[in-house]
Amino acid sequence: MSGLKVLSVASEVFPLVKTGGLADVAGALPGALAGEDVDMRTLIPGYPAVKDKLGGAEVAHEYPDLFGGPAQVLAGRAAGLDIFALDAPHLFDRPGNPYLGPDGTDWPDNGRRFAALARVGADIGLGAILGFQPDVVHAHDWQAGLAPAYLAYAGQPAPGSLITVHNLAFQGHFPVSIFWELGLPDRALSFEGVEYFGGVGYLKAGLRLADVVTTVSPTYAREIQTPEFGMALDGLLRARGGAVHGILNGVDEAVWNPATDPALAQTYNPLRIDMRARNKAALQSRLGLAHSVDRPLFGVVSRLSHQKGLDLLLHVLPRIVEQGGQLGLLGSGERWLESGFGDAAASRPGSVSCVFDYDEKLAHLFQSGADFILVPSRFEPCGLTQLCALRYGATPIVSRVGGLADTVIDGNDAALAAGVATGFQFAPPSVEALANAIDRAFEIYGDRAAMRRMRLNGMRADVSWRGPAKRYAELYRSVARTAA
Ligand code: ADP
Repeated sequence: MSGLKVLSVASEVFPLVKTGGLADVAGALPGALAGEDVDMRTLIPGYPAVKDKLGGAEVAHEYPDLFGGPAQVLAGRAAGLDIFALDAPHLFDRPGNPYLGPDGTDWPDNGRRFAALARVGADIGLGAILGFQPDVVHAHDWQAGLAPAYLAYAGQPAPGSLITVHNLAFQGHFPVSIFWELGLPDRALSFEGVEYFGGVGYLKAGLRLADVVTTVSPTYAREIQTPEFGMALDGLLRARGGAVHGILNGVDEAVWNPATDPALAQTYNPLRIDMRARNKAALQSRLGLAHSVDRPLFGVVSRLSHQKGLDLLLHVLPRIVEQGGQLGLLGSGERWLESGFGDAAASRPGSVSCVFDYDEKLAHLFQSGADFILVPSRFEPCGLTQLCALRYGATPIVSRVGGLADTVIDGNDAALAAGVATGFQFAPPSVEALANAIDRAFEIYGDRAAMRRMRLNGMRADVSWRGPAKRYAELYRSVARTAA
């Protein structure tokens, strides 16, 4: 089959609106899939930031009343993407974070807002827009989780459906009262449908009713089928086991290219890897760390949350500094971690420095200048930081979970002897295991040839979207159907 049409339904898309990895994936997939003969268009909410960037949009469909107000679907192009924007001012004409109000908590009508998004995704799947009849609707995360439900209960031929879980921790669980607004038949409020612990589960609905489920790494696909990582959905995921697939994310090779990156003090490539030293010096200056070529510089670029395991690092920090290492951290998030790292930096000036901010440009300098990038997550669906680190020759030190397990080749004796190691893995995510991995990193750092080899291996690893795009295209073809 050729010329497959796929509608991607997502609540954020890079570079139009981003809070996390979901946006990166939703933004990169359409371009990556073009090479697979897949025509992907993306439905996103018409937040102000999206409408601003959508030049020359046309009205492709209208709703006199969509969850309490008039709405229309605008079709246009922005940032190289074919976009359908759901222009529903009563739901989405709110600046700032897509999910949170000014007080930093969820908008009280998120259930309605994202039911509307999913509903419109399903309508487009069923043929609402002339000239774009999808063969597959691809829903991302709980915000689009009801789209497969609307398709399943449409009572008419529907396109194939796929849902991707980017992080099982976010489930879209709402009180049962929302059900009566959804416009689904009564029988949908069941174990086989959208019911979840007495309420309505948007992610649960998608996981139960989509033709196939994907998540963003093979290891996470297995982990979420266990009680330890399944966050109460492991039973359902086990029941759907044959339909659950893990496909790794890639990185955008144009955005993350050390040979052309304007955010670096010095561009470089694998043949000129020693030139990274200038970026290390620039990063040390930027962070106010002592200038040193010889001290290994450990970097962190992360959300500061329990998931990311950075409290473990706080315990290991004295040991890093005692052995002559430095730590630079770029991150924002939970207050207790900010204050822990803030105290550590204050008590070890020149050796530990933190920037509590979200700064894309500085993240690039970290990846190009740090010797090691630490990702000690307790769980990690895929992880992008370690992929960027590989590409930039910053050797990743990661816990052996989820996508971290799938993308880093641990520098154990066998891998070192074979010359294939790209970083270090440790398990379980504990202070002791992390400390041990850091000791191993110090050891390699002391062996210039081995360190160089490991960096080069990382830079040569394929972290592109090419392989993942092929896998998505195969899955789309396996479920493709048209409603027409
Ligand atoms: P998650 O989506 O769970 O936050 P990922 O590793 O999948 O984690 O993706 C996060 C992306 O955002 C990575 O590319 C990471 O480098 C980037 N990032 C995280 N925190 C920051 C920050 N404070 N400043 C700049 N980039 C950041």
